[in-house]
Amino acid sequence: MNKQTSHPITEHIIQLLHLLQTNHIELNQILTDSRQTSLLSPEETRELRAVCGFLDEVSCGILIYQADDSHQTLYANSGLIRIFQCKSTIEFQEFTGNSFQGMVHPDDLNTVDKRIHVQASTEHDHSGCVVYRICCRDNSIRWVENYSHMIHCKNIGYFVCSFISDITDWQKQQQQQLNQALDKANMAAVAKNAFLTNISHDIRTPLNAILGFTSLAKNSLDDTENLTDYLNRVETASKKLLDMLSQVLEVTALSASDELTNVDCDLRTLSQEVYDFLRPHAQEKNITYTLDCTGIKHSGINADQEKLRQIMLNLINNAITYTQSGGSVFITITEGDELPGQEAAYYITVKDTGIGIGEQFINHIFEPFSREKNSTLSGIHNIGLGLTIVKSIVDKMGGTIDAKSVVDEGSTFTVSLHLHTQSLPDEDTKNTETVQPPKQRILLVEDNEINREIETELLERMNFIIDPVEDGYTALNKMKQASPGDYDLVLLDLQMPIMDGWQTASAIRKLPDPELANIPIIALSASIFLKDYQRSEACGINAHLAKPMNLPVLVDTIEKLTK
Ligand code: ADP
Repeated sequence: MNKQTSHPITEHIIQLLHLLQTNHIELNQILTDSRQTSLLSPEETRELRAVCGFLDEVSCGILIYQADDSHQTLYANSGLIRIFQCKSTIEFQEFTGNSFQGMVHPDDLNTVDKRIHVQASTEHDHSGCVVYRICCRDNSIRWVENYSHMIHCKNIGYFVCSFISDITDWQKQQQQQLNQALDKANMAAVAKNAFLTNISHDIRTPLNAILGFTSLAKNSLDDTENLTDYLNRVETASKKLLDMLSQVLEVTALSASDELTNVDCDLRTLSQEVYDFLRPHAQEKNITYTLDCTGIKHSGINADQEKLRQIMLNLINNAITYTQSGGSVFITITEGDELPGQEAAYYITVKDTGIGIGEQFINHIFEPFSREKNSTLSGIHNIGLGLTIVKSIVDKMGGTIDAKSVVDEGSTFTVSLHLHTQSLPDEDTKNTETVQPPKQRILLVEDNEINREIETELLERMNFIIDPVEDGYTALNKMKQASPGDYDLVLLDLQMPIMDGWQTASAIRKLPDPELANIPIIALSASIFLKDYQRSEACGINAHLAKPMNLPVLVDTIEKLTK
């Protein structure tokens, strides 16, 4: 007997064939009378029973059939008979016509037959599997996975031995996952197309306002009242444009970054700040606007304050935006049970009496660029990224977000987070911290002339003393010639000719005088991807802020670093 595999099950099969061969038993007899063939000695009958018993125990189906054109079935174990939903060997034999062809779905037969022969003839075990459909006794069609080996017995010829597993449920699951992935991809593609169509319109709207009101302002230089109004409108439209760009960048940055920057902060103060910040928006629409923080037991928390602020800003801003004039927006921050490890559960709930969200759309509300109505229909110029950002942040913080809504009645968004609690500094400490520090001397490094001018003027108005230079090389020379105390801080653009901001910062950190080498450095740059922040950190830059300059944030950072 010649074999091409040495799998333990195959060994049993060879043993079985050997028994039959040495006793000249009709091979197909074993199917109908596998346990009681009278031609065997009692010892051989025991051996045959043991082998058949073993093969019946195997959970997958085992089939042996002749490798000639007849494909006549020689042996099928109980596992295979079960897969075919047959009650007995005889029923299986009748149902399949006692041949391999009778088992395979007619549409798959041709390819399956060829592939199994190729597979069975290869030298290696499990050289791959063949997947095909079978027709079962109960008329169902099931998917199976088939591994085959060719076995050769002297005098009686070649046999194919197949191990067959029912993979219908797995296949269904795979198909379902595939369909879901396809649906998602289709939805994302539709959303992306809608986004691209809308964004052009939505970006042009504030741009149009900027250009239009700038032109009006130029013609109203003597009319102070109108001039102020036009400039205010230019500012509002520019902020809107910046918001849109920030959101698009935020989504990219979020998917790239896993970092959370946890700091000790006061949840009640933070909520009040966000609430106050959006109050004018609510007042414009005459919306009843309420914040309830009475449910907070521990206001001191250790968390990523900026990310928490973003969550609240987006949810509250949406609630106001999607609520008609005269409606209501309620914000409630509550604290649930205390958890082990100085943690507590916090719930941020933003409820509105606005337009609500359709049943179908609510399932896709956190997907990027998804909007229920485009800007033309809704009259609202947003881009559909706010909730995607909120969801990414909440996921990153290990929390959950839930959206409930009824069309024309309103929506409720609830964020649940587990946050570390922290005792707050007492009032005395707070008071000493708010004492005004003296104004600082800043070496401002900025290659763009307009930016240099604006930054110098805005900072000088805040009483800082500014020494502006146009590139990193000049800045480094100034630092080399400076005495300790000449400058309190370096404010550095990053993308500059000759010597960029990162090179400049690295060179400053290597200056021989330790006081000069350790001067605080703030990068103020339009390079705001994760890799840019990482590079700044590696070059010893203390803080990296985004352009356009946010003056209060910049002043706050300067004061923190020079304290
Ligand atoms: P957008 O920038 O369009 O507001 P979001 O991701 O914040 O993007 O919201 C996606 C969409 O979800 C919105 O366009 C709007 O259709 C819907 N939506 C979000 N919040 C509310 C809400 N409070 N009430 C009604 N619809 C909302």
